[in-house]
Amino acid sequence: MWRHRPIIISSIVILSLVSLDARYAAWPRGHIRATPKIAPSKCDRSKFKLILDVGHTAEAPGARSARNGSEFEFNLRLAKRIEDKLKSEGFAQTNLLLTEGPARPSLFKRATAINSSKADLVLSIHHDSVPDSFLEEWEFEGWKSHFSDRFSGYSLFVSHDNPKFWTGLRFARLLGGRMKAQGLQYAHQYAQPVMGRYRRKLLDKKVGVYRYDQLIVLARTRVPAVLFEAGSIINRDEELAMESTERQDMIGAAVVGAVKEFCASR
Ligand SMILES: [Zn+2]
Repeated sequence: MWRHRPIIISSIVILSLVSLDARYAAWPRGHIRATPKIAPSKCDRSKFKLILDVGHTAEAPGARSARNGSEFEFNLRLAKRIEDKLKSEGFAQTNLLLTEGPARPSLFKRATAINSSKADLVLSIHHDSVPDSFLEEWEFEGWKSHFSDRFSGYSLFVSHDNPKFWTGLRFARLLGGRMKAQGLQYAHQYAQPVMGRYRRKLLDKKVGVYRYDQLIVLARTRVPAVLFEAGSIINRDEELAMESTERQDMIGAAVVGAVKEFCASR
């Protein structure tokens, strides 16, 4: 969610149920008994409207990675991979939201597009960095570059200003749980004093859900919305992991699992 201008100036974008085919189980002596029926899932995957908001724009690409990649490119690549996975699982109404232009106007364009979509859920895809004061210098392929290996991990944000806060929080918890089940850790620093004005209230300390009321894509939308920092690209090891198809598939599987559970539980 960080936006770094090259080298010097930076600013922050404030921003199945299991079908019981064993419905009949044999008694010990061969008698047959009917086991209770499980209510069918209310989730119609073909009708579930999900927006994958690709964080930032080509013109205002967000954070710069340790190896000088743009956050926007990371966001777009991961969002497309998640979209493919969801569609292959029957979530046909999954759409990427891409906006253009400078950062702040693009945020309001996003909120307007989301509100007119009547989506069931919005997941805003980002990759994390650190405040400038944590940056260290190194040289990558002959270019003066910046990194910070101090923090790593994913994080999830919800806004109390969103009227569907509780529903968004429910999805965020499901996604955090799935990320954790994939063996991924969340970024703990947002709850720590060292983050200063970027410190956030940790709502779920098990799976890494934070409260961040001011984020426009969460606060100005009227559908359940969650912002997902999928991992850090300013951390040199994690940047390489985030570039790998293996990590992207793990994250994709976590999102698909969480969406299935969320849709089925509505
Ligand atoms: Zn971002």
